[in-house]
Amino acid sequence: MNKLEIVFATNNANKLKEVQAMLPKHIKILSLKDINCLEEIPETADTLEGNAILKANHVTKNYGYNCFADDTGLEVTSLNNAPGVYSARYAGLENNSEKNMQKLLDNLQGKTDRTAQFRTAICLNLNASQTVFEGVCKGSILSEKQGDAGFGYDPIFRPENHTLSFAAMDMNAKGKISHRGLAIQKLVQHLNEILL
Ligand code: IMP
Repeated sequence: MNKLEIVFATNNANKLKEVQAMLPKHIKILSLKDINCLEEIPETADTLEGNAILKANHVTKNYGYNCFADDTGLEVTSLNNAPGVYSARYAGLENNSEKNMQKLLDNLQGKTDRTAQFRTAICLNLNASQTVFEGVCKGSILSEKQGDAGFGYDPIFRPENHTLSFAAMDMNAKGKISHRGLAIQKLVQHLNEILL
């Protein structure tokens, strides 16, 4: 079987590890750093799908690589699906997870409906064709942080039908049920169909 090198448009070490662990051995992921893409890629769309497309196109157009890019948002029902596409910048431009979680907990004070979902859009540019995949993980927002693994909102998000937050699960258990895991499974299935 041919080896495929494909860029995952991120430098987030957690995500790179999570995603490489889900891919078959013949697919090798390169990070943005690996291809010397050091500039900030604009994420100016107002949807997750739009941002995933912007990021994947930036890499393919400027560096010539097959590439996939993801964008994820946490959609909280009683906050009209906020923070959504603005999840990274919810409490300010610096993408500070502690501040983002605190703002979310503050905004949920007194609300009885704590249901939420993580949604991931992945855009794949492969050999001049473009495909978008989606993964959703439903759950709820805890009132206190639990666990210290993972990243982002993991300590306060508990997936449906589970007792532990994402941050209290191990990475493989999270990957099997997470928004990004489900979107990646669709991506892998698609790659396998095309490349086998
Ligand atoms: P990104 O588009 O994957 O960078 O995600 C945007 C923001 O959503 C991140 O900065 C995190 O705050 C949050 N986020 C994304 N994926 C996860 C996850 O798996 N767990 C917790 N938070 C996440």
